[in-house]
Amino acid sequence: MTSAHGSQRLFGFAPLSATSKLHTALGGRRLGPLGLASLALCGACGLDEDPHTSEISSELSVASFVTSSCTTAVVIGLSRQIANEIGCMNPSSLTRFSAGSGITITSNAVLPYLAANAKSDLQAVGNVRVNSAFRTIAQQYLLLQWHDRGRCGIRAAAPVGRSNHESGRAVDLANWSARVGAMANHRWSHDVPGDPVHFDHLSSADIRGRDVLAFQRLWNRNHPGDKIATDGDYGPATEARLKKSPATGFATGASCTPRVRAADLVAADGPDRIAPGQTAHYTLTLANDTDVDWPATTTLRIADGNASELYDAATWTSSVELGAIGVAVPAGTQGVVDIDIAAPSVATPTPIATQLALVDGTTQLGTLDFAVTVTPDGDANTSADADDESDVDVSGGCSAGGSAGWLALAPALLALRRRRR
Ligand SMILES: [Zn+2]
Repeated sequence: MTSAHGSQRLFGFAPLSATSKLHTALGGRRLGPLGLASLALCGACGLDEDPHTSEISSELSVASFVTSSCTTAVVIGLSRQIANEIGCMNPSSLTRFSAGSGITITSNAVLPYLAANAKSDLQAVGNVRVNSAFRTIAQQYLLLQWHDRGRCGIRAAAPVGRSNHESGRAVDLANWSARVGAMANHRWSHDVPGDPVHFDHLSSADIRGRDVLAFQRLWNRNHPGDKIATDGDYGPATEARLKKSPATGFATGASCTPRVRAADLVAADGPDRIAPGQTAHYTLTLANDTDVDWPATTTLRIADGNASELYDAATWTSSVELGAIGVAVPAGTQGVVDIDIAAPSVATPTPIATQLALVDGTTQLGTLDFAVTVTPDGDANTSADADDESDVDVSGGCSAGGSAGWLALAPALLALRRRRR
């Protein structure tokens, strides 16, 4: 991710409506002020008809990572909301892709979305190691800032709003040199001098600016008293808001017209705070609103197949699989699943986002985005339940404020619509 185009991935699928549920899940308890972890489970866009009312807050703004990080994974939570919002606005504009069948996703910073034709052509190329695919303005902002400061070894970065990555028609490959010819055979141009890892798929539609518009819509939804123009143009007003937006996402995420429900996380409960190296336990209540029964042998896995930084050796089957859910969840019912995670050792506040998948055999039943921000100087095990309401951001609902982080669990489970069939 030190290439010009960094790396990233994510996007989600669906609406992130999980926050509201999160609150429910937490039974009204909120994460404490110092927080450490923010979990985001996201729902699929349009799959969830519940209103999003809860708040996710964190003092870690997008701008706070300008001088402290080199991975766009730190803004994966916000980026997923932006991607989901694009999915709400234009359901067919971006298509999710998965690891496998010749595609390797190299990090949890990758948002696995591309324009439909770009995706099919990439699959046809095969044997590609993807460092970066779709990217949001939050990610592009950081890459450009790092580039301009000579940080992170970034050799090139397009202006925010102008990268083809923001249009889902560019990828950066770790093994680019071996794939130039094959990429060219499938309409992927190796066309940016000085940026060897980068390939453009220029026959796909140019929807640059869509991510800017999605951000503007999200900002306004969360800041009714500080609305900005929803013009899709990245200017000073938009940048000022982006800089102070919470890296882990707004209290209220993407908004789609209600459609069909699929899988949903109706409750999540866990500790307010955890420290590096600490293990945390979460109880998730999942609703199976699909028409397919989920057997007890359904496993919860890391969606991209890469070893998780949250791997808990004591309870997980492996670094890529948490284990079986252990309880059958017939269609139309709910089930409770317990999980443990182990926070990695970090020296600075570090958001970690991972996407989990519910898998039955070879069928993916749904996914959920889990994001945790580990804060080294947090007060481990200290509950902040008492100041529940104080965590709510005074200036509009999202982040920013306060002192410290907290753990936000924003559940969202979501099922991919297409998987349901
Ligand atoms: Zn690139």
